[in-house]
Amino acid sequence: MMIRWAILLSIATGACSATTSPAPMGQTQASAIHANNPYYSRTDTAHLAVGDAEWKRILPGDVYQVARHAATERAFTGEYWDFEGVGTYYCAVCGNALFRSDAKFASSCGWPSFYQALRPNSVRYREDRSHGMVRTEVLCGRCDSHLGHIFDDGPPPTGKRFCMNSIVLDFVPGT
Ligand code: FE
Repeated sequence: MMIRWAILLSIATGACSATTSPAPMGQTQASAIHANNPYYSRTDTAHLAVGDAEWKRILPGDVYQVARHAATERAFTGEYWDFEGVGTYYCAVCGNALFRSDAKFASSCGWPSFYQALRPNSVRYREDRSHGMVRTEVLCGRCDSHLGHIFDDGPPPTGKRFCMNSIVLDFVPGT
């Protein structure tokens, strides 16, 4: 019984600390998390055409729902919405480099926000008419995973706000 309570306590503590002080994902952690994902690569930029059933088999359930079915994580709950680490954000599904931390800005929206992508083809765009709105969806340029949406209320120099879901981002510290 004592062991069971200790495990529960450690899980609860971990859950709380994950929302208040995120641990940046280094190469070792990322490698462990993506061990079952043969498509994950931070160097291969070739476009991926992987079926839904395969992604469902490979990805953690919460990542799968956002990445492949455009679910949205609740505002102010993701790992990176108020995170200020210096480094690079990669697609958590395929490893594609998406954003540099120097393009991230403090936004009150509750999701990590960037004013530009790392490369023009890091992402691609698609019109999204769901939920009675007309928005522009942002997809990973390599694996087509849903990342979030882009809006025209961002800061200079672009005026854009890439409003992303933390769960589909891997942060790797470095300059
Ligand atoms: Fe991707």
